[in-house]
Amino acid sequence: MLVDTHTHIHDGFDRDGTPEQIFAHAHENGVDKIITIGTSPEDSEKARIFAEEWALKGEKIYWTWGYHPNNYVENCRNSLTNDINMALEAIKSPQNVGIGEIGLDYHFDGRDPEKQRELLLQVLQLAQDQKKPVSFHVREAFGDFWPIFDNFHLQTSVLHSYSDSKKNLKIALEKGLYIGVNGLATFADIAHAPLERIIFETDAPYLTPAPFRGKMNKPGYVRNIAEWASDYYKVSLAEVEKITTDNAKLIYKI
Ligand SMILES: [Zn+2]
Repeated sequence: MLVDTHTHIHDGFDRDGTPEQIFAHAHENGVDKIITIGTSPEDSEKARIFAEEWALKGEKIYWTWGYHPNNYVENCRNSLTNDINMALEAIKSPQNVGIGEIGLDYHFDGRDPEKQRELLLQVLQLAQDQKKPVSFHVREAFGDFWPIFDNFHLQTSVLHSYSDSKKNLKIALEKGLYIGVNGLATFADIAHAPLERIIFETDAPYLTPAPFRGKMNKPGYVRNIAEWASDYYKVSLAEVEKITTDNAKLIYKI
């Protein structure tokens, strides 16, 4: 059994097929549990509704409340206090398993770092108070990220789609973070954590793994990431499945 711990399948425009087809393809590939990740208050609401609807139909689908830093800088309309209050209500959902994606992203010019840090502080306070694990998105911003992270006592959490330096990877592991591994591993030369500290994700519809580059990504392709890991770590596919699924259970209690 495999888990896609970070995907965005609740948005109809971001799906390669109907939800029925997406779930069927996932099951055919041994992917039984899926966490769909919110990227703004509006998007998180879509994730909640999607997860609750499909859970009623028997799928093991969960969601997180998130606010991607770039979305916040570009689109925030409500006051942040208002958003956080709405999040507090929303995460009472039986299918909610965490907070994220949140973090810092300094990759693009003009992405107001100060505003990003203000958002991160508020949302991490929520995660700490509500004892929810976090899926972090951090890009070219670890210098500012670590001091903020150190100020909180969070549940065991995850750096999603890690592709930064070996140095920051080492720091992340020392701080108890797990690493979300996706299709990037199958085609990019990046630093890797020990198998004991990774979980799988697709980040669908982005970052499609080899050999499906050029197609839209979907949760069933976690199988291809697991095959890459079996090859890379030189352990059986069954062992890879067991370790990464146990890790996902430990973090998200699913
Ligand atoms: Zn994502």
